[in-house]
Amino acid sequence: MRMSRSQRSPDHQPFEATIAALKTAYLHDEADIALSFSPMAALNASASAVAGGYAIHLADTFKDRLDDLFNQLLRQSDVMDWMEEPDAVGTIEDLPEARRITATYLSKLCLDFIVNHELGHILCGHLEALTDLGEDSQIAELNVVELAGGTEDPLKQIWEIDADLVGASLLRAQLDELIRIVLNSEIGSVTRHIFGPPKIAREHCISLVTVALYCLFRFLRDAAEQLNMKGDHPDPLVRAFYIRNALVPAALERHEIDLDMFDELFTARFEEFDDALEHLGFSSTLTQNDLGIAAINDAVSELLKSRREINDPAKDHRRIEWPAE
Ligand SMILES: [Zn+2]
Repeated sequence: MRMSRSQRSPDHQPFEATIAALKTAYLHDEADIALSFSPMAALNASASAVAGGYAIHLADTFKDRLDDLFNQLLRQSDVMDWMEEPDAVGTIEDLPEARRITATYLSKLCLDFIVNHELGHILCGHLEALTDLGEDSQIAELNVVELAGGTEDPLKQIWEIDADLVGASLLRAQLDELIRIVLNSEIGSVTRHIFGPPKIAREHCISLVTVALYCLFRFLRDAAEQLNMKGDHPDPLVRAFYIRNALVPAALERHEIDLDMFDELFTARFEEFDDALEHLGFSSTLTQNDLGIAAINDAVSELLKSRREINDPAKDHRRIEWPAE
């Protein structure tokens, strides 16, 4: 990966190894992927085809905004309430230790996911498909809302969930590493305090990662609405449940997961963080009561159905193996 000198910063270095590995594995080093962080009016991200490969652009405020989000969430004592009670205000650095470690980890995970989502667009062949369609070979997560009221494009919505799916599966290495650490009986007392005993470690790690992504989706939608912008993304709950429905079977192939335990932990973390988001004033649409769950499942099935039925021009350009359709 190359990055211009002015844009290079220590915060971006962790991405270099990941992107270099992906470039070799999926692009056979035939194309470059340049990642840059730059000032933007909105909290936006984009992927585009450029000479020699691809470019991913992210707003340079992402890390600070995510740190702030998870600081505010972990500052609420009802979130993971077995941890030390926090002061009402302060920065991420002065949260009580276990809360600080959790907030920092989840913030970083979400930033990784944003980069992974853009990599997902590249690996799914969306940029080449745009060229085939005669459009600019660029995908921006947010666009200024058209006053005429643009209609939803089903193909673009499918592309967004496909990029989410690939993005989430690229988090697999981090998730497996987290599970490995938490299963080790020798880990430090703070880590154990955060994740609980080894018998719930796998379920708790997957729950926490999925719920963190849900927080990210709601945060991004809220940030977009404040600027009167929109993306082609489904509702944050639908995005999160779609990822959950994909992550759990994939995790089942690699780990022994107790599904009842997972449901219990997922619901507990989900409700805490959902309440916390509400408390911070993030708008919600669907809610996770019984009617909400049915509506979410319907929306997820609907997306899967249109994904099967749609003639996706990106199919011929995919650089990754795709599950049977
Ligand atoms: Zn996208």
